[in-house]
Amino acid sequence: MNIEVLTLFPEMMEQIFSFSIVKRAREKELVNIHCHQIRDFAENKHGSVDDYPYGGGCGMVMTPQPIFDAHEYVLQNTDLVKSEVRTIYCTPKGRLFSQELAIELAKEESLIFLCGHYEGVDQRVIDELVTDEISIGDYVLTGGELPAAVMVDAISRMIPGVLRENISFQEESLFDGLLEYPHYTRPADFRGLKVPEVLLSGHHKKIQEWRRHKAVQETCLKRPDIIKPDRLTSKDVELINQFNTKE
Ligand code: SAM
Repeated sequence: MNIEVLTLFPEMMEQIFSFSIVKRAREKELVNIHCHQIRDFAENKHGSVDDYPYGGGCGMVMTPQPIFDAHEYVLQNTDLVKSEVRTIYCTPKGRLFSQELAIELAKEESLIFLCGHYEGVDQRVIDELVTDEISIGDYVLTGGELPAAVMVDAISRMIPGVLRENISFQEESLFDGLLEYPHYTRPADFRGLKVPEVLLSGHHKKIQEWRRHKAVQETCLKRPDIIKPDRLTSKDVELINQFNTKE
C-alpha cells in the first residue's frame, strides 16, 4: 500500500512512523509512507498557507492553492494508483473511524491523508479533492497529524503480513464485536496475585472457552453497544442472559 500524507509537520509524522510495527511494515515495503510539506507548494514568497476567513470570524483557514498543488504533485509523482486513490481529510466533522473502517481502508492500494490546521481547510478543497472525511473521535484536536497517525497505524496492522503470524488481530478488541479477553504473563504468582488456574493447565480447549467467556463478559460490562448478535454462539447468548439476569 502507498500512503501519502499532506501536512504542515512532516518531520513530526516521519518520527511517528519510525517505530515499532509501522516501521517494520515500511522496511518490508508492505506500506510505503511519504510525508509532504504543504508549505513547499505555496506560490507566495512568504510560504504562507493560511488566510482570514471570508465573512469574518476568528481563526485562519488553510488556503486552497498549496493543497491543490500538493495533491496534484503526489498524484503525478508517486506510485499511487491514480484512478482508485482515496483522499482522506482528517476532520471532527467526518464519519467516525473504527476497526471496521481500518479493515476496509487496508484493502486499498493507495491513500492520501490531508491534515488540516487552524480552523481547517477551504471548503473547495473538500468539495474537489476529498473522497472521505474521517474523525477519530468527538473532540477537537489542534491538527490532523495525530488523527492521520492513528489511522495509518490501525490500517497498517490490517495489511496481510504486517503483524507477526503469532499475533492474531482476529482476537483483538473490536474485531468481531467483542473486546479481548484479559492477558497474564510471568510470574504465575505476583505478590500473592495469582494467574487464573486454567491458563496454567495447558488444556487448550478449556483455555479457549475461558477466553471467550471473559471476552463476552468484558464486552457486556464495558461496551455492550458493540456486540454483534449474529456473531454470537448459542453459548455466548446463554452467558449474556446470565449476566443480564444477575444485574
Ligand atoms: N474548526 C474545525 C471545526 O470546528 O470542525 C476544527 C479545526 S481543528 C482545530 C484543526 C484540524 O485538526 C482540522 O482541520 C482537522 O484536520 C484536525 N482535527 C481536529 N480534531 C479532529 C478529529 N477529532 N478527528 C480528525 N481530525 C481532527
